[in-house]
Amino acid sequence: MADPVRIVLVFPALLGTYGDGGNASVLAQRLRWRGIDAETIDVGVDDALPGEADIYVLGGGEDTAQTLAVSRLADGTLRRAADAGKQVFAVCAGFQILGETFLDGHGEVHAGLGLIDCRTDRLPGSRAVGELLGDPAVDGIAGPLTGYENHGGRTLLGPAAQPLALVRAGIGNGDGGDGAVQGSVVATYLHGPALARNPALADWLLTRVVGTLAPIDDTEESELRRERLAFVRHGRSRRWRRQWKPPARDS
Ligand code: GLN
Repeated sequence: MADPVRIVLVFPALLGTYGDGGNASVLAQRLRWRGIDAETIDVGVDDALPGEADIYVLGGGEDTAQTLAVSRLADGTLRRAADAGKQVFAVCAGFQILGETFLDGHGEVHAGLGLIDCRTDRLPGSRAVGELLGDPAVDGIAGPLTGYENHGGRTLLGPAAQPLALVRAGIGNGDGGDGAVQGSVVATYLHGPALARNPALADWLLTRVVGTLAPIDDTEESELRRERLAFVRHGRSRRWRRQWKPPARDS
């Protein structure tokens, strides 16, 4: 039998707001439903990150937690895994710490891991809180992408990264896009968990690891999606729809 697909959940105690740890469970379960063996490995903040996994999942967290997380990831293991083409999926704080730098709520700039060509400063005005809806900006994902956002950071992508989605409702990165795709590293501001709310995104990630996947029954997931999309469409999250023009990027 083939080795199980190994899915590492990075520091769930630090990077696990809004059930983001569920992303690892969703990936594993969608493989198992297709008869593909999968194992999830929760890595504690004092444990060494395994270098030989297939997928690394990072979730959201508060500013202090993400600053601790980035210091524990600075040993280069995650970078080497990404450089070797291993999939990395990161949400919110997980996204921010994979960039070049991030600014915390106290005005302090921290070095990120540099896996994504982006920098995070702060959103003008209040935090982005509410439903987030976007159209995939990469081929192969059936949209729209839906989820929940809650962050104070604004993330500006550099030329090596492309957005995962273009925002229709909500804030996302703060420049009209949401998330980033750069090689095997994929990131988003969507909580939900994102992969429970967007099975097409989960399967797109898995396809990059195991190849073409057989279809499975997503009736329940589709029901959830319908309910959430109707919620946004009927304007109940209207106050989160404010958008602003993309700020000029540094050349
Ligand atoms: N602390 C970060 C911010 O506020 C990330 C928040 C989160 O992960 N939900 O921008």
